[in-house]
Amino acid sequence: MSNRAPSPLDLVRRHDLSLKRSLGQNLLIDSTHLARIAGAADLETTDTVLEIGPGLGALTHHLAERAGRVVAVELDQRLMPILRAEFADRPHVSFVHGDILELSPPEVIQMVGPDQPGTIPAAAPAAEAYKVVGNLPYYITSAVLRHVLESLPPPTLAVLLVQHEVAQRMVAQCGAMSLLAVSVQFYARPRALHKIPAGAFLPRPKVDSRVVRLDVRAQPAVPDVEPARFFQVVRAGFSQRRKQLRNSLSAGLSCTKEQADRWLTSSGIEPRRRAETVSLQEWGMLTRTVYGTE
Ligand code: SAM
Repeated sequence: MSNRAPSPLDLVRRHDLSLKRSLGQNLLIDSTHLARIAGAADLETTDTVLEIGPGLGALTHHLAERAGRVVAVELDQRLMPILRAEFADRPHVSFVHGDILELSPPEVIQMVGPDQPGTIPAAAPAAEAYKVVGNLPYYITSAVLRHVLESLPPPTLAVLLVQHEVAQRMVAQCGAMSLLAVSVQFYARPRALHKIPAGAFLPRPKVDSRVVRLDVRAQPAVPDVEPARFFQVVRAGFSQRRKQLRNSLSAGLSCTKEQADRWLTSSGIEPRRRAETVSLQEWGMLTRTVYGTE
């Protein structure tokens, strides 16, 4: 971090702030970990970064040292004047007050220029490549992942700090797949990087965290299916996770078990298997069978 950056702890005291548990405000206060997160995004001075939830700007300082432009979206209005004052002399850093789930990541990137901190003009220039970095509030992790990966265009790369257990689920292999794993791996190649102990945060959360890096695929892992159809079938398959696929599919797709058996067998999937054993390619086959495009 640059020598000018105050610690989040100093800022909390100076502004007499109470951190909001309801917004997942567990600030990362260990600068070694902050530097490693920023480092994992392989930032160049030509890069634009969208940071989700800058808090008091601890990670933002590290991103600002490395990237050409940083746009940070923060939901807590109280933090906006503090962030803008802290970064007043860094024109390549902008802050937007808002809920990331209600904003389009590429539009925010396009519309907020370095000389228009936090204001969104009416007309957007053409889309540009961007990366996403953030220490996510745990309660919106899955929603943010889906929102970011499904945005058009998506980022080229995302480096996110998530709960350790969520990171493990994202990188799971066949036998331990979940709706989260399928959703992430459909759009990206996830890698679990270093673990960050609960003691590195203020206040200390109940569980450890882990940095994950998602290299977003140029094309989804199953390119020849419509994503909405693919996920309708996958969601049906996971709707009753512990049950055999023939049961969960018939419940989730409102069809008979015999119909589900036929679809599964024609897709080369044994109907008594469970959803966690099914590969992305097999879900693709099943989607094509269900929608009659095979
Ligand atoms: N980046 C800081 C750090 O690493 O110490 C703060 C991370 S803290 C875990 C999460 C931050 O996200 C908080 O500042 C919180 O106010 C913000 N936040 C929560 N929900 C949000 C949302 N829907 N959109 C944008 N920011 C949000």
